[in-house]
Amino acid sequence: MKKIGGASSTTTFFILTLAFSLLFGAILNINITIGIDAFAKKSSNKVSDRNSNDGGNGDGAGNNDNTPTEPILPLPLPVEKPTNSKFVIINFDDSHESDYSYAKPILDRYGFKATFFEVCSWIEAGYHDNDVSATWEQITALQQDGMDIEAHTMTHPGLNGLSQADLDYEIGQSKQCLENHGFNPTIFAYPNGKGSDNPKVVDTVAKYYDLARTDTKSSALSLLQCGDESGGNVNNQQQRIYCGMYLHDGEVIPENRYSINSWAHKHIDEGCSANSVDNGDSDNCDKFRFEYNNAQMFQKFVSAVNSQYSYNKDGIVRAIPIIVYHILVNYRDLSDSNRPIDTTVNLFDAEMRYLYDNGFKVITMADLRYDTNSKSLYIKSS
Ligand SMILES: [Zn+2]
Repeated sequence: MKKIGGASSTTTFFILTLAFSLLFGAILNINITIGIDAFAKKSSNKVSDRNSNDGGNGDGAGNNDNTPTEPILPLPLPVEKPTNSKFVIINFDDSHESDYSYAKPILDRYGFKATFFEVCSWIEAGYHDNDVSATWEQITALQQDGMDIEAHTMTHPGLNGLSQADLDYEIGQSKQCLENHGFNPTIFAYPNGKGSDNPKVVDTVAKYYDLARTDTKSSALSLLQCGDESGGNVNNQQQRIYCGMYLHDGEVIPENRYSINSWAHKHIDEGCSANSVDNGDSDNCDKFRFEYNNAQMFQKFVSAVNSQYSYNKDGIVRAIPIIVYHILVNYRDLSDSNRPIDTTVNLFDAEMRYLYDNGFKVITMADLRYDTNSKSLYIKSS
């Protein structure tokens, strides 16, 4: 990086920075507009898009910077070289045959590698989630193609409330199962993102894996630095939101290693409203349901992958969006689908093309490392 030194250069530096920011912002806006226009052919009128939470699309990160008293502090990072790259991690969960038949050819077209989180007992199971399961042969082919194969339990249960023996089976045996078939998983994904705030679950995950992925539904961003109490960043409100916290011996610990955040790319968002969801009283809760078509999901995707800009300003990577897909289907539009986990092939292709056209660097979960001293995730140098 070129360094401009000396107090006399301050004004010049400021002007250059401002000019660059304006130019860069203009280019970004043009790209987003072009990308969305290409897909915004029609808008489904059955969609209620007035959700004040914005469906958890992860674009809030750049918009809630109205708290100047708590800036993101530039911590020392074990990333050796500053970079101006924009990063994205693509995941596929739950061992669907479409991982191989639909996702792989599109990923190959753009030269991208993704991470596939496998549920061991679902592989070669015939059908699950009303969809054909992947075979071991297909998953081996994915790995031979340079894809990253990681673990997502044996049977995909909710982990909270399981006995220690069951936790060891679901979490530990799923690693062993993949190893028995020639894979080397070091990363775990919690089923439905549940368990990353449960000390018993997290402690079991930590016995077998280096890292683990969850989702908070509030953002697609995974913050690489969560800091520690001596670093003072625990008090940073934005980091509180994005860094996983779990209770361990009654203590609140900021821990991103076993609660790496992600965004599930689901076009139907339904559940109980916030004031009744915690009671588990699904019969009496205020239900909500939002459906999004291809054009709307594309817009959410674009927001999610661009939400890193406010964090990665000066060539240091502090946040990476992680997008989680489930099943690719060959429908015309998502408005033809009633299954939340569906993504149409044409939408996935358009999203990967957007990353390609806009110079995003697509890495895998296996490219992430954890530095225990700084308590930071970082990108392995290639
Ligand atoms: Zn899953």
